Amino acid sequence: MARLVMKFGGTSVADLDRILNVARHVEREVKAGHEVAVVVSAMAGKTNELVAWCRGAAPLHDAREYDAVVASGEQVTAGLLAITLQEMGLQARSWQGWQLPMYTDNTHGSARIIGMNGQEIIERFKSRNREVAVIAGFQGIHKETGRITTLGRGGSDTSAVAVAAAIQADRCDIYTDVDGVYTTDPNVVEKARRLDKIAYEEMLEMASLGAKVMQVRSVELAMQHRVRIFVRSSFVKPEDIDPHAVPPGTLICDEEEIVENHIVTGIAFSKDEAQISIRRVADKPGVAAAIFGPLAEANINVDMIVQNISAEGLTDITFTVPTADYERAKKALDGIKNKVGFTAIEGAADVVKVSIIGVGMRSHAGVAATAFKALSERSINIRAISTSEIKISILIDAAYTELAVRTLHSVYGLDR
Ligand code: ADP
Ligand code: ASP
Ligand code: MG
Repeated sequence: MARLVMKFGGTSVADLDRILNVARHVEREVKAGHEVAVVVSAMAGKTNELVAWCRGAAPLHDAREYDAVVASGEQVTAGLLAITLQEMGLQARSWQGWQLPMYTDNTHGSARIIGMNGQEIIERFKSRNREVAVIAGFQGIHKETGRITTLGRGGSDTSAVAVAAAIQADRCDIYTDVDGVYTTDPNVVEKARRLDKIAYEEMLEMASLGAKVMQVRSVELAMQHRVRIFVRSSFVKPEDIDPHAVPPGTLICDEEEIVENHIVTGIAFSKDEAQISIRRVADKPGVAAAIFGPLAEANINVDMIVQNISAEGLTDITFTVPTADYERAKKALDGIKNKVGFTAIEGAADVVKVSIIGVGMRSHAGVAATAFKALSERSINIRAISTSEIKISILIDAAYTELAVRTLHSVYGLDR
């Protein structure tokens, strides 16, 4: 017997038929003798609709009420799955974030999980014939104010990992619309290959650099609590699964568990990036602080930063900000133009950040040079570069996204 968390994303619970399919997967695990807690997302498209309703009601709305509205999608699917399981003759009960309770901080709209007590769920596994806990993902409660919070888009993954840690689950299965984590988005690159295993650190980079298959915080949390995550497909029929074989999927685990050695593990890309260049700014101490200080105060995250060598005491500074903050960032910089003294602010929102990720980069030189050569052969211009120990990110024009991702995928031998 094992204790499992099974998480199902939006496309997996998109309608009653799919919810029935999910219920049959849950039944399969319960009948195999396991204790199961399920975490569900809202039906596909539902959260987008709820977000749009909030914006429609008032463009600048109260974040607490936004959470009250957008948390409702998961409430519906949790209830419907519990009903479906009961109809199949299984013991099941739904749980909303506040009922567990799943405690979070009060950053409404992107709250962080503080913790959850799993005792009640564990107790019910024992006293109520392995009652299935069906938990609404994406939501929690701020203890001090008693208000509902949500965990940021894609947050049900993080709910699942938090539940797995709280009930000391043996595994956290993430059922989604692809059968694992691939070398790059399989819906964009046909030759993408499924990985059998990926290290937490690599998954963390992949997720933060654009691979939305797992929310970034879910990977952070899994790494911290050593939760083993298995990403797999919800679209296979339960009866087609061989209970004695390892199903197709990807295990997210410690680096030590991975025997296969490759330098580059995957390619990620993110269009959620805009470039700003500040022209002919004085190259003297304090200037960077004068520019980036106001952006930090406006809560704008700056990512890649490039400063040119100065000529005649003047230089250019280029950096990127999230697309959603682009206009706000330009406005904040306009406000300091006279004080800092530069000639112009230039920008581009039609850019993409393509990243190459792999723990093998720690011990191998030349990975970056290979990328630059391959891109130049395709006449793709590089706007900015940033690196860390296990990744290289390159900013290019958005029009070249697919070509760049395919080229890099192939040049590092990742093609199927
Ligand atoms: P869910 O609704 O189940 O949470 P998501 O849409 O959030 O599913 O995440 C799954 C999607 O992530 C896939 O359909 C795929 O397009 C995308 N994706 C991006 N990069 C990758 C990758 N490297 N491996 C697998 N899927 C990826
Ligand atoms: N329903 C939420 C969203 O669409 C959370 C999730 O699906 O993980 O962002
Ligand atoms: Mg998701």
